[in-house]
Amino acid sequence: MAAADVIVVGAGPTGLMAAAELMLAGARPMVLDALTARNPMSRAGVIHCRTAELFDQRGLLEPLLATGDYPTTEIGHFAGLPVDYRVTPTRHPAYNVPQGSIEQLLEARLVDAGVPVFRGHRVVDMTAEADRVTVTANAPDGVVLHRGRYLVAADGGRSTIRKILGLDFPGRQGSSTAITAEAVLAGRTRQGLERSRDGHWVIQFPLEAPVRRLVAGGPGGAAPRDAEVSADELRMRLRAVYGDEVELVALRRAARIDDSARQITSYRVGQVFFAGDAAHIHLPLAGQGLNTGLGDAVNLGWKLAAAVHGWAPKGLLDTYQTERHPVGARVLANTQTQGLLMDWAGTGNADLPAVRGLLAELLRVPEAMGWLAGMMTGLDIRYDIPGGSEDPLVGMRMPDLDLTVAGEHRRSHSLMHTGRGLLLDLTSSGQFSDPARAWADRVDHVRAKPHEDVPSTAMLVRPDGHVCWTSGPKEVEDALRSWFGAPAT
Ligand SMILES: Cc1cc2nc3c(=O)[nH]c(=O)nc-3n(C[C@H](O)[C@H](O)[C@H](O)COP(=O)(O)OP(=O)(O)OC[C@H]3O[C@@H](n4cnc5c(N)ncnc54)[C@H](O)[C@@H]3O)c2cc1C
Repeated sequence: MAAADVIVVGAGPTGLMAAAELMLAGARPMVLDALTARNPMSRAGVIHCRTAELFDQRGLLEPLLATGDYPTTEIGHFAGLPVDYRVTPTRHPAYNVPQGSIEQLLEARLVDAGVPVFRGHRVVDMTAEADRVTVTANAPDGVVLHRGRYLVAADGGRSTIRKILGLDFPGRQGSSTAITAEAVLAGRTRQGLERSRDGHWVIQFPLEAPVRRLVAGGPGGAAPRDAEVSADELRMRLRAVYGDEVELVALRRAARIDDSARQITSYRVGQVFFAGDAAHIHLPLAGQGLNTGLGDAVNLGWKLAAAVHGWAPKGLLDTYQTERHPVGARVLANTQTQGLLMDWAGTGNADLPAVRGLLAELLRVPEAMGWLAGMMTGLDIRYDIPGGSEDPLVGMRMPDLDLTVAGEHRRSHSLMHTGRGLLLDLTSSGQFSDPARAWADRVDHVRAKPHEDVPSTAMLVRPDGHVCWTSGPKEVEDALRSWFGAPAT
């Protein structure tokens, strides 16, 4: 029997990030994964601007980007229509980092810090009581039991934990499968989405040269998700779109994906919290799955750690549902719209070019482009902060400000490396020093010179980087109490 504060089932990006956040916040996580080694398939290949900020806030972005030579993307896509990320208020582009590199970095950090990551431990049963969770796993040396106070189910779209709890996964079955592949091609290099008149389509992305990442679909996508992909089938798909201009030289890996769209109703069942694909599945395009899962993990990690440490205010854990369920629902809506617009199933709907043309025209309006880019990058996520002020910053992520702190240049996001709360005091007199003192064990009080882009004199930032208070009519003590519990005596 091994014990931890939080058992994380699944060492995909969501589970590893959740464990990393728990570890940073001083809780003891344990990670279990059925696989003995990481899945080598590249799968998602982009971290969006908000995720880049999240990594930056933890000091992980530079080490991640140092693991390879990753191209950046300033113009992304929505169903193949260009989306200009440069209009968003961030210093980051999207980075084309394969999912495996993210997993590798996070897992190495956890292992180096002594967090148990048990590979080859397939969870087959779980019992949850009022204050503890016990899982049974089939491990290389036999059956083992693991015990914790909470459990994060980050065990993917076919979540065993969901099934053990008998939970519905409402939504709809995919309309058809497409091929995703890592391949070497000859001929003209292509980028982005291309389609044929009869509904076939291929999207290409850069991977480490000379290998490219392809997603190819259209009519005839009836093969089940688990059916093997042959080189001939991929060749047929390429020929349908490119004719003889592009040739398949080598196929490294291939799998199938579909456009199923499902979301669990409740992200929390007692001591069990669902995150990532275990909570929501959808068309896995444009990095939405990976990025949403990482966002779930960062939202949940500090809240669970607060509960473990005993200072979580009443209702804090339930804000995981109220904040992240709407984000997941919006991702489903966005990916379902993309599936329709790009004609995922290859119906050849003759009206679609007109709809796409109209949308492309609409996107020439700067506000429309800004709205879409905000949604695709995750930068527009605004949580509903009960009792929050009218300040449009409240609920949003803290902007990445250039600050002067103790005479030195600091970026506001670099102040979040500790994973603690942040009371950013922009008054010249350090007016918020007194109230901050009582929460000093959970919240850093940082004085910086007033900033021209920030009209308020102070802001309180949660460990996940979202602003939960700015100076105004509401007292900072109330906000500190609401998000960080009772002050230390
Ligand atoms: C072939 C493929 C291509 C994809 N391409 C894209 C893409 O281009 N763009 C995009 O955005 N997304 C893509 N995705 C989706 C993306 O990979 C997922 O959204 C992302 O992996 C979700 O991360 P996660 O950590 O929530 O779940 P997962 O990455 O699925 O991780 C779940 C983990 O749980 C483990 N597990 C499962 N059951 C158990 C159990 N009983 N006991 C212990 N461990 C268990 C699994 O071994 C796995 O490691 C693709 C997915 C696949 C499969």
